[in-house]
Amino acid sequence: MRYKLRSALTREPLESDGYPTEPWIRPNWFYVDGASALVRVEGRGTPTVLLRWRHWPKNFQLASNLEKRGRRFPELGVLIGGRDIRVTQVGDLRLAVRGTFGISDAVLARELETILRQERRFWGEPGGPYLVTAARLEEQAGGYFTGVGKGDAFAMVATPSMTLNDMRVFLAHEIFHTWNPLRLGRSAGATDYWFSEGFTDFYARRLLHRGRLIGPQGFLDLWNEMLRTYDLSPARTMTGPEAAKAFWTDPGAERLAYQRGALLAAIWDHRLRAQGSSLDVVMQRQAGAAGERPDAPLMELFLAEMKAEGVDADADIQRFIEAGTPLEPLPDVFAPCADLEVKRTPSFDLGFTPIMNGEGQMVVTNLRPDSAAYMAGLREKMVVIRKVSGTNGVADLPYNLEVRAADGRTATVSFVPAGTGTVAYRQFVLRAGATPAVCDLSQ
Ligand SMILES: [Zn+2]
Repeated sequence: MRYKLRSALTREPLESDGYPTEPWIRPNWFYVDGASALVRVEGRGTPTVLLRWRHWPKNFQLASNLEKRGRRFPELGVLIGGRDIRVTQVGDLRLAVRGTFGISDAVLARELETILRQERRFWGEPGGPYLVTAARLEEQAGGYFTGVGKGDAFAMVATPSMTLNDMRVFLAHEIFHTWNPLRLGRSAGATDYWFSEGFTDFYARRLLHRGRLIGPQGFLDLWNEMLRTYDLSPARTMTGPEAAKAFWTDPGAERLAYQRGALLAAIWDHRLRAQGSSLDVVMQRQAGAAGERPDAPLMELFLAEMKAEGVDADADIQRFIEAGTPLEPLPDVFAPCADLEVKRTPSFDLGFTPIMNGEGQMVVTNLRPDSAAYMAGLREKMVVIRKVSGTNGVADLPYNLEVRAADGRTATVSFVPAGTGTVAYRQFVLRAGATPAVCDLSQ
């Protein structure tokens, strides 16, 4: 069989183009996700793929994780190539990049290699080639970054304003998906998201810290961002079926799986460590059991390993995932690294609804004249060129927006997005004298 791929892209990629879910093929380069380009013949099962690159112009650089002989699951393939592709190798890690970012290829490749090495060490896995592909998107609405895990590869796109700080935890999360859920048993899909996403967040933070890519405060900052969002989320008390139903339409429900899973992981790890075990032990044993019984349900394997270490996780799952009881970790869940405290701040009030228009521009709508944003000079239908500072949901940090009015004039608008009410949420506070070794929470 022979077929042609059609390009979904007819110009340089923009922020609003997001990820190449359909092939991007340009005269001088291409970026193609295996799932969008490599066909399977119905009824023939899982094919073994042998990729041969032929008849390319001499100055084309090419990179794919399908170059390995006899690779299965072609949808886990990624292909990139072109005259302006740069390839950097650090240890097992190969980085193939198109376009320039705020980070040099060498720095990004070293960071990725450290994350990969740390995660492989956690799972006791030997090395092997791992490919990361990256393409630059032109910035439109203040910065964007996304990617897809491909087993032994990770395919990403980013705008140039994204910093390593913005991307680090996301990279660690995506690479951890190599194991969770793929090598921990047969996943049931959406009902396991709290485990596959929440535990992956838990370990992304933990292993970044253990690899010394972030310090204790950076580690707690990641937790605190999640905790604030969770504590202030209207979706917090959704039952499991409600959250599953709203997963694709309500961002609060989507985040819930990550939040609940990570909090449960922390609570269980605390309980296990008090008994001389740890969640690390449970995860590593589960990977071993899944290696012997790859078709066994992931949740069955997990519950069995938890039980073997003395914790009945099933009752907690019923209560906190299914019934939607809010999670209240004990204040010493991260002792002796940090304590959990309640913080009170003004409620968050942006004063308007930002909406992405057809041209991929962020536009101001529903602006209230009594808002701080209006008083600072923001007007309805202005285009937000760039968010210089400000965090959605955080009332005590000022917003700085570069905006463009209808007449084309640009300005910077600064305001504090505080409403009239007060909100309370929990935050971890680093204990005085807590060292990185203590915050590894490795026993
Ligand atoms: Zn994920």
